[in-house]
Amino acid sequence: MKNPLYDSLFAPHWGNHSTFLYLPDQDLSFDDFLKLASKFANAIASFGLVAGDRLAVQVEKSAEALAVYAACAQSGVVFLPLNTGYTAAEIEYFLGNSGAKLMLCDVKAYESLFDVAQSSGAKLAVLNGDGSGDFAEKAKEQSADFQTVERDQDDLAAFLYTSGTTGRSKGAMLSQKNLISNATVLAKAWWFTNADTLLHALPIFHTHGLFVACNISLLTSASMIFQAKFNLEDALAALPKSTVMMGVPTFYTRLLSDARFNQDLVKHMRLFVSGSAPLLAETHVEFENRSGHKILERYGMTETNMNTSNPYVGDRRAGTVGMPLEGVEAKVCDAVTGETLANGEIGVLEVRGDNVFQGYWQMPEKTAEELREDGFFITGDLATQSDDGYITIVGRGKDLIITGGFNVYPKEIETLLDDQPNVLESAVIGVPHPDFGEGVLGIVVPKSGADVDVAQLKAAMAQKLAKFKQPKKIVIMKELPRNTMGKVQKNILRDQFADALK
Ligand code: AMP
Repeated sequence: MKNPLYDSLFAPHWGNHSTFLYLPDQDLSFDDFLKLASKFANAIASFGLVAGDRLAVQVEKSAEALAVYAACAQSGVVFLPLNTGYTAAEIEYFLGNSGAKLMLCDVKAYESLFDVAQSSGAKLAVLNGDGSGDFAEKAKEQSADFQTVERDQDDLAAFLYTSGTTGRSKGAMLSQKNLISNATVLAKAWWFTNADTLLHALPIFHTHGLFVACNISLLTSASMIFQAKFNLEDALAALPKSTVMMGVPTFYTRLLSDARFNQDLVKHMRLFVSGSAPLLAETHVEFENRSGHKILERYGMTETNMNTSNPYVGDRRAGTVGMPLEGVEAKVCDAVTGETLANGEIGVLEVRGDNVFQGYWQMPEKTAEELREDGFFITGDLATQSDDGYITIVGRGKDLIITGGFNVYPKEIETLLDDQPNVLESAVIGVPHPDFGEGVLGIVVPKSGADVDVAQLKAAMAQKLAKFKQPKKIVIMKELPRNTMGKVQKNILRDQFADALK
């Protein structure tokens, strides 16, 4: 193949399976999408970018935004999508760090980004969510023919900056092979075909919405109902026309919050996939009771694409992330020695396979800390593996609490708190404690309209947990801070409650 990524995801669809994207105001065929992408590829080239250069993109989700990804694949330019929530000060770091030659932004951000782009030497052009802007204008004048640039499967396809919930974001370098191998394995594992229509309401600056969702659909010529973001009404309207939905856990809890979400609405659906944050076992059960479908939970991260999945056929086990995908090796290791632990023991999950990234851009020390010479990547997630191979994520290594020399895994306490009457969800963190170094703090969100009794919660914890694991204090919050992918931002909670036990 001349350009494995472009040839496998994009090129074969010429003349194929007419509708690729169902959009609020139009439907776009594969042919038209690829013509647009080639015009974009010519426009990108006209800014002087060649294969290997980085193109930073902070734009609203749209067909055009996805076409920029296709254009990058066709021209060998490294695609660097950025969270639409990042401020100019944050973008300054990404542009400086990546050395991007061009940045595409929304017109609303143009002014604030102008100086930032100039000082890092990047050109700036506009692509708005409605497809307008000077970049789009420039592309209109271009030819819809673009000579696909030859690439090797080990060439870089994309940089995705890690979400940075612990420390500074790092640019994860993903090769063509990383992306193609994962899409191929997932499409097979989840039985994707061109008869599928995926309800796509995830952002496309993140591995979940961009690579998992779009790459699989592109690879298999499936169609997508492309929604700018998750909105309950739009999701309810689209479900009867879809066969698959991919979401973060909050999508599923929001569907469950509406009585219109029932078996009849999803009778054409064949699969619901969840990932990016833990799905509560309770949500899994409630979802099955209401819809007749068992959510399929999978696990992955920016650096590795997807690593594990519950089975399409077989036991989709609530609270677990399933088994390693084909071609992915996974082991639970001792955090200090790196030795593989026995089944059932908690340790750090390490993974190896064609899905694992090439390292962090210009951070050789960081790369060496997390990517072993033998190819295993130290995910930083704490996990256990059952005798029959199912992996359960029990939290981030960095969230581990060490109180008076004892290790406390927040998940164990969160699960107990979540089970108490009137509790919707909880987060358990370690905060500075004068005697123990760190002390356990429980943060509890009551179910809507309900009250929780803190004294009763403490009594329930005292019955079930060793003294050192019991929260020294429990505070009530209306909701937990989450990022766009539904992850609880424990760093924010640790800052907010830094003095809670002093
Ligand atoms: P990101 O790089 O933003 O995709 O974040 C990856 C992290 O999200 C992983 O390292 C896990 O901590 C978490 N994560 C992803 N999927 C799951 C899941 N199904 N269950 C629990 N945590 C998950």
